[in-house]
Amino acid sequence: MQFFSTNNPELRVDLEEAIFRGLPADNGLYMPERIDPLPESFFQELPDLSFSEIGFRVSRQLLKGAIADDALRSIVEEAINFPAPLIKLDEQKSILELFHGPSLAFKDFGARFMSRLMAHFNKEKDKQLVILVATSGDTGGAVAAGFYQTPGIEVVILYPKGKVSLLQEKQLTTLGHNIKALEVDGTFDDCQHLVKQAFLDEDLRDQIRLSSANSINIARLIPQSFYYFEAYKQLLGQGIITPPVFCIPSGNFGNLTAGLLAHRLGLPVTQFIAATNSNDVVPQYLQSGNYNPRPSVATLSNAMDVGKPSNFARMANLYGQINGRDPLEKATWESMRQLITGYAFTDLETEAAVQLVKDRFDYTIDPHGAVGYLALDRYQKETNSSHGIILETAHPSKFKPDVERILRHEIEVPERLAELENREKVAVEMSIIYSPVRKWLLEQYV
Ligand SMILES: *Cc1c(COP(=O)(O)O)cnc(C)c1O
Repeated sequence: MQFFSTNNPELRVDLEEAIFRGLPADNGLYMPERIDPLPESFFQELPDLSFSEIGFRVSRQLLKGAIADDALRSIVEEAINFPAPLIKLDEQKSILELFHGPSLAFKDFGARFMSRLMAHFNKEKDKQLVILVATSGDTGGAVAAGFYQTPGIEVVILYPKGKVSLLQEKQLTTLGHNIKALEVDGTFDDCQHLVKQAFLDEDLRDQIRLSSANSINIARLIPQSFYYFEAYKQLLGQGIITPPVFCIPSGNFGNLTAGLLAHRLGLPVTQFIAATNSNDVVPQYLQSGNYNPRPSVATLSNAMDVGKPSNFARMANLYGQINGRDPLEKATWESMRQLITGYAFTDLETEAAVQLVKDRFDYTIDPHGAVGYLALDRYQKETNSSHGIILETAHPSKFKPDVERILRHEIEVPERLAELENREKVAVEMSIIYSPVRKWLLEQYV
């Protein structure tokens, strides 16, 4: 299997290049050259397959021949070592809990799979690999936990001083071993600029093998398709056989795109719901056919505060746009809106939904999941549709202050997050000037 760029279908690379490069030189995104449906036998066996077996078969189908079966199997088994339970709210709605990994958000699936895939291709190299990531909070936590103690790979996380939450900072700064944190006296953009300068520094790159763990990496998308099949399996187990509606709280639309991949692989789906906060560029497009990215605004569901969703290029590609530089065709819009319905909600509506889900179902939902709840509820009221699944993208305790303010009582923090509070922070302070960062990298890794 090879991968092409959404900006140029002629540009093909192998899996190794796609994951270590992250982004094609033409600024498109990598996509698998073919997506063939899984065989009928897979769906017959599905009710009896374990989550990691599902992951193995799905990734083998998407990566056909790019990696040996036994290597892929052990990568998936190591990466997918926590469950994704489907919790039934009522006859119409279930919640797919994606927060049972180390950093309590669905990004653990992508980060853990990517780290092991990179380690696999890195094995034969004599120079260690250094991953540089700038983070505004959540991605860094999943990357730190995902790459922790991965042989041959060092990770450097740059985060803006004073601009991430206390628990987020602890997730970045307390692991030790191969994970190091740089606390930058600046903004997230300054952190990103420092990373960019390092990547453009040829002399540095002659001495250190650098790579990124960017959220647009194809290796992060693939494992996110596994849990759509896992959810369907659990629905079948409950005797529900109509194809479900999947409702996805979205920002950069990686999670939703992974669902579209699952659908291409043959997963029965009635409809996808794109649920957003006020950053509603994609729901607007689905409504009107006009795609107008714009600067993001801050909301309560802040992991979805995205004004220019990076995975939109992949969505458009799946529905007929051949070259991402061309204007969007009407046919792309028409096929997309047949399968995807978009809704956006305000913070006030989101807060009310957190309260309503608690009152009606005794379930504590986080603000991102609450946006999903609202969207599924509206869709079901408009269409009298079949069973719907809301993807719960993070554990509510990750947004403890807001959730406790809304519900007016304390919420439980899982052990693996709570114990971070007592761990000691280790971070190297940096200004926004590149040369000390460069000097530090050379001292550490050459
Ligand atoms: C990253 C994130 C999202 C958005 O996911 P996308 O794949 O970017 O659409 C939603 N909720 C939470 C909690 C997240 O961390």
